Amino acid sequence: MLGIRAARLFNGVDATPVEHPLVLIDAGKVVAVQSGGDPPAEAELIELGDVTLLPGLIDAHVHLAFDAGDDPVGRVTTAGDDELLQGMRLAAARALAAGITTLRDLGDRGYLGVTLRDELAGKGPHIVAAGPPITVPRGHCWFLGGEAQGVQGVRAAVREHHERGADVIKVMATGGELTKGTRSTEVSFTPQELRAIVEEAQRLGLPTTAHAHAAQGIAYVAEAGFDMVEHCSFMTGHGAHAEDAIVEVLKRSGIIISATLGSVPGMAKPTPFQAMIPQFVAVFTRLRQEGLTIVCSSDAGIGSAKPHDVLPYAVAMMVEMNAFPLIDALRAVTSVAASALRLGDRKGRVAAGFDADLLAVRGNPLHDVHALREVEAVFAGGRRVR
Ligand SMILES: [Zn+2]
Repeated sequence: MLGIRAARLFNGVDATPVEHPLVLIDAGKVVAVQSGGDPPAEAELIELGDVTLLPGLIDAHVHLAFDAGDDPVGRVTTAGDDELLQGMRLAAARALAAGITTLRDLGDRGYLGVTLRDELAGKGPHIVAAGPPITVPRGHCWFLGGEAQGVQGVRAAVREHHERGADVIKVMATGGELTKGTRSTEVSFTPQELRAIVEEAQRLGLPTTAHAHAAQGIAYVAEAGFDMVEHCSFMTGHGAHAEDAIVEVLKRSGIIISATLGSVPGMAKPTPFQAMIPQFVAVFTRLRQEGLTIVCSSDAGIGSAKPHDVLPYAVAMMVEMNAFPLIDALRAVTSVAASALRLGDRKGRVAAGFDADLLAVRGNPLHDVHALREVEAVFAGGRRVR
């Protein structure tokens, strides 16, 4: 048994921290969380001092196969499998060192995310892998290998993902910024194709999520019954605006929104997309006020401003641009994200019965969001990894 002492603990849910927590861990799980007291005599005790303990963070949208360099597409399309997988190992290690103990990889090449998931099982980070995103011929990220077309074609693609061991079905429902010849403002799949994807995935017990920027694409995805929508930016040709009718569609559907944010200051290129971020954040503010469930994610890997440990900057952006109160932003990368990923009974909280994935930071992130980057220690499955 292991005991960890700290100054305070955010359990992933409650706004009031546990003072002087003692977290007891056995066989990779938290067995008790108490305030004060001593561990059993046989337990090893780690005194972390004046730090805050939190659940390991969850990034619901990353790309381990993109190298967070200046030309991620060029790199992912030319690297051999061994080289690409080695880069993915380094990306996962970088995230883990920042306390991001669960990663949902929403687009790899050749199911290498599934390979890495199995390789890292029990070591951390925990990877939820989508495999190559399902996309229309020459659609967004077609070069990752997930092209499919027509109702029969997309059903077959979902079955292949299931057979190859994917945990979640990721679909490109609109064009995207990374892919030449596609437009974020244009839809890709038809409503019939999207509905067929959801039906086939549900039959196989797999959750679904879809990349969508354009309002029409967002509406299609919600109406088709997807569990989640990525980006959900409501991007138009000249900005972003949450249209009332489509907000109502989202509310009726119960879809969960994955708001991809965050960049390392000074690294982001001044592109038209970057300039629209305040408008995207205004969309998320509106959606939160409408009562929709939103997780905070990053899209890590797609550029030099988004290394694989960028998630704390996404949380800071949410808070500093007034989209979320600080406590809700912290929940959006812990307990709320865990539930959205169907891991709500194992991840995202520090409580008895949950996996012992823990982040310890200097300072108090319940008061200062930037404290999330002041990492003192990281535990994955009860094992100290930093
Ligand atoms: Zn992405």
